[in-house]
Amino acid sequence: MKRLVTLNIHNYPIPVEINYSNIKTKRFYLAYGMICARMRDTDSLLSLQERLERIFKVNTIEKINRTPLHVSDFVYVLGNIEKCSYSKKGTFSYSTCYINYLGKKTNLKDFFLNYLAKRMEELENMMSLPHHNIRIKDMYSCYGLNYVNRKEIVIGQKLVHFSKEIIDSVLIHELCHDFYQNHSKEFYNIYSKYCPNFRILQKKLTYGEIR
Ligand SMILES: [Zn+2]
Repeated sequence: MKRLVTLNIHNYPIPVEINYSNIKTKRFYLAYGMICARMRDTDSLLSLQERLERIFKVNTIEKINRTPLHVSDFVYVLGNIEKCSYSKKGTFSYSTCYINYLGKKTNLKDFFLNYLAKRMEELENMMSLPHHNIRIKDMYSCYGLNYVNRKEIVIGQKLVHFSKEIIDSVLIHELCHDFYQNHSKEFYNIYSKYCPNFRILQKKLTYGEIR
């Protein structure tokens, strides 16, 4: 079971995705500047907050919060700030946010899907891989998924805010899973061949650095 809550970590409101499970390992990792936490059914949110405060220092949390991805009429698109409008008033959503693209009012979600499809084809050619269907969706605990058997790659829509280089690092990572369905040494060898600075780019993504 999964649940999304907002916890006050060092007095910063941080969205946390919780995966309830009975496993003993308490894994914490950062994704999209969000914390994905595993906890047991019996743990309280307060104890989770205390644990997260111990693991993530104040400056880490500050780093995550440095760049807002969208503010009122502006939104980061592929690492650049763009003016945007909304088809529905209220909170930000990818399907109601519109940008001006090549002189045409375009929905952010459609724009991104279009961008990804084109870029993916270029990368597939570069890596001599077959065509993959691409889907975007709201994801919290990872940036991408490769359903190798279906030749389908799913990308988190939040990635639209980041630079093309950072997006590439995610797409190449997922395509490398066509060669290895794990994160072994061999996987990283091939990943670094196609994306030599993946470590720097992935770190930026983790801390919400747009470019
Ligand atoms: Zn992976």
